[in-house]
Amino acid sequence: MFEGLQDGLGSALKTLRGKGKLSESNMRDGLKLVEKSLLEADVSFEVVRTFMSRVTEQAVGEKVLKSLNPDEQVVGIVHQALIDLMGPVDHSLHLKGKDEVTVLMMCGLQGSGKTTTCGKLGRMLKESGRKPLLVAADLQRPAAIDQLHVLGEQLGIDVYSDRTNKDPVKVCNAALKEAKKLGVDVVILDTAGRLHVDDELMGQLTNIDRQCGPDQALLVVDGMTGQDAVNSAKAFNQALELDGVVMTKLDGDARGGAALSVKQVTGVPIKFIGTGEHLDALEEFHPDRMAGRILG
Ligand code: GDP
Repeated sequence: MFEGLQDGLGSALKTLRGKGKLSESNMRDGLKLVEKSLLEADVSFEVVRTFMSRVTEQAVGEKVLKSLNPDEQVVGIVHQALIDLMGPVDHSLHLKGKDEVTVLMMCGLQGSGKTTTCGKLGRMLKESGRKPLLVAADLQRPAAIDQLHVLGEQLGIDVYSDRTNKDPVKVCNAALKEAKKLGVDVVILDTAGRLHVDDELMGQLTNIDRQCGPDQALLVVDGMTGQDAVNSAKAFNQALELDGVVMTKLDGDARGGAALSVKQVTGVPIKFIGTGEHLDALEEFHPDRMAGRILG
């Protein structure tokens, strides 16, 4: 995971490591390489600028340069700055008690892994003793309804769909009524995706948000798409006021930049990461672990 970023930052920091004493110019040269590797890993320009000014200010300070091991200290400074960029830890879904229904609205572009993530979350919730219901509110693609039913069957989780209804708000509201009948305590709405952000999609999602009142709106973004993932997170957040992000496909050779930019650019925390196609490949997001992985 994060091979690109790991390699880049790893070799940038290697130029500083083991040097013992460092001059300010050695340090600045090493930091230039850190900056280059972040940009190459698709971390957004504004995030890199803020990150580098914070790291540089600390690294070229008297205390670090005059210390016995300035190289190790720089690694520590970069590590902490990565954590600050992605943190604080926030993977709560703010579930209500089991005698109430918590509604999670999942949204995202087509292909981001939204439907798969609905299944993964359903599985995770079921394992923790909850009774989830998956709702097929992606009415654009009939295949999406089938896909959700297949997932529900595999997981032993109820799925609500209505192929005769073309209005996602009505489908979601009917599902909420059904949830009460079934004694369900978490409803996961699998909303429609598109290939690109467009007004019609945002209009549809805003209607569901206003009229069905989900407790949490979570955006699923494909971590392999780098800056595009950050831009779509920005657009969705403007329309919906997201509560969190699930970043998928971090098992591939994602360059990792999106994970570093999303929180900073949107103010919305990454709550979970998808690390594979299997339904158990969902992990809580821990900024410190991610920073550790990035630095190798
Ligand atoms: P949707 O159009 O957003 O609902 O996307 P899907 O859930 O249908 O997923 C699109 C593709 O991405 C499928 O082939 C999934 O198996 C795959 N996928 C989803 N999440 C992950 C992940 O975390 N890692 C990997 N490697 N593949 C994933």
